[in-house]
Amino acid sequence: MGKVTGFMEYERLEEGYKPVPERLKHHKEFVVTLDDSQARLQAARCMDCGTPFCNSGCPVNNIIPDFNDLVYAGDWQNAIQVLHSTNNFPEFTGRICPAPCEAACTLYVNEDAVGIKSIEHAIIDKAWEQGWVLPQPPRHKTGRSVAVVGSGPAGMAAAQQLARAGHDVTVFEKNSRIGGLLRYGIPDFKMEKSHIDRRVAQMQAEGVVFQTSTLIGSLPDSLKITNDAHTVISAEALQARFDAVLLTGGAEQSRDLPVPGRDLDGIHFAMEFLPQQNKVNAGDQLKSQLRADGKHVIVIGGGDTGSDCVGTSTRHGALSVTQFELMPEPPEQENKPLVWPYWPLKLRTSSSHDEGAEKGILQREFAISTKAFKGDKGKLTGLTTVQVEVKDGKLVEIAGTEKEYQADLVLLAMGFVNPVAAVLDAFGVAKDGRGNAKASTDFTGGYATSVAKVFAAGDMRRGQSLVVWAIREGRQAARAVDEFLMGFSDLPR
Ligand SMILES: Cc1cc2nc3c(=O)[nH]c(=O)nc-3n(C[C@H](O)[C@H](O)[C@H](O)COP(=O)(O)OP(=O)(O)OC[C@H]3O[C@@H](n4cnc5c(N)ncnc54)[C@H](O)[C@@H]3O)c2cc1C
Ligand code: SF4
Repeated sequence: MGKVTGFMEYERLEEGYKPVPERLKHHKEFVVTLDDSQARLQAARCMDCGTPFCNSGCPVNNIIPDFNDLVYAGDWQNAIQVLHSTNNFPEFTGRICPAPCEAACTLYVNEDAVGIKSIEHAIIDKAWEQGWVLPQPPRHKTGRSVAVVGSGPAGMAAAQQLARAGHDVTVFEKNSRIGGLLRYGIPDFKMEKSHIDRRVAQMQAEGVVFQTSTLIGSLPDSLKITNDAHTVISAEALQARFDAVLLTGGAEQSRDLPVPGRDLDGIHFAMEFLPQQNKVNAGDQLKSQLRADGKHVIVIGGGDTGSDCVGTSTRHGALSVTQFELMPEPPEQENKPLVWPYWPLKLRTSSSHDEGAEKGILQREFAISTKAFKGDKGKLTGLTTVQVEVKDGKLVEIAGTEKEYQADLVLLAMGFVNPVAAVLDAFGVAKDGRGNAKASTDFTGGYATSVAKVFAAGDMRRGQSLVVWAIREGRQAARAVDEFLMGFSDLPR
């Protein structure tokens, strides 16, 4: 423990944000990382409480008290070693993880939690700056080959672990760049893509081969998902060529809203809107871009994806942005004695919400359901809603609360129902009740699907989730594949 009385002496300090008018001029990151002395005092707040609930609250089980102690002692080089021992990509999680560890921090019982995520962010940024993040090529090669299908955080984490274990790893990605939703879902203002490129270079030096614009299996033409593939490889060909296959294709099937008027021009999935902006940021020349400039935008869906649509629409110059959430507005503060150390349900206000509010263009509506879209000559002009309430555990409409909203652009951000069935069907992999690849997370036999030598991990196995869960699953699946190939594994779980 760094400083015995640190938690009594120092207040929590949040990372800074650049001013709203400045950051709305671009799509780049705007968080100001803690400097060394700030990070040191924040780390000193860790009580080393004996039973580190933060460690089990973190899906990759980061060894948080240990890196806090090292940062307080100024030993940044060992701090990054501890962090990398459980997390392949702390620069991703240090930027975009919702930090369930902090909800589980013992100090959070009656004080502000230790700023674990901001300390993680400071450690990894310093490590890159100092040149401490280097390729770790394997000492011995096994002669075994693994195909990883999908290059999101699950596929990247698995590929890195498997290459370090000495296997020949090829990552296949249907899009033209690596990263999955990190690349084309999450806006640059939350995480710039140079962080992915740097890791790709590291992994290439460790022996990972990336084959982009390559679709494994097939996709229905009607599906509106990002697909830059110009090469197609069948599932059978892949199975014949590799000793094991790991499916990490994500859960790309967006939830739709099939109410009257859905076919009007002006209604799009969030995952049509957000990837286009990320491509433009990367310098791609698009034939046309779906933009929110001068429009009244309605975002249907109150989660992370919806919030990212708010931030992107505000940067485009939308006239107004209204975000709908079907569930009632949660309380601003959770009932801590009831929920700690678990992730609490409470009102969350993102930096994108702050921007919309400061510009005076954002309205957030709760307990609201969309009944129909309205249009003129095939073009969207608005929609009709009704308020809902929870009765006997079900959402029911409240009579007489119907309302009309004007809208030129509606973005559907209601989450993802499951992976694309065609990809799983191409391999003949059994699905669970929610349409995900069926595979357990058991220590023995985990991540194996119903098809011999085919494994699954990340959103494709667990359904839509978080980057930190994808990294955990990628690491654990890598161990399972290594054990399958070699009969044992030294990879950590
Ligand atoms: C807009 C948005 C914002 C989000 N914000 C956050 C956030 O702030 N914090 C957070 O923790 N999580 C966030 N998430 C969730 C997070 O991004 C996902 O949980 C995570 O990326 C899942 O990782 P994955 O590797 O399982 O799959 P994905 O990231 O979905 O990657 C799957 C990859 O597989 C490829 N693929 C699929 N099928 C094939 C095929 N047949 N052949 C070749 N390639 C294929 C896809 O093109 C894709 O690149 C967000 C999600 C979205 C959509
Ligand atoms: S990865 Fe997420 S949950 Fe784990 S320590 Fe970092 S911020 Fe916390």
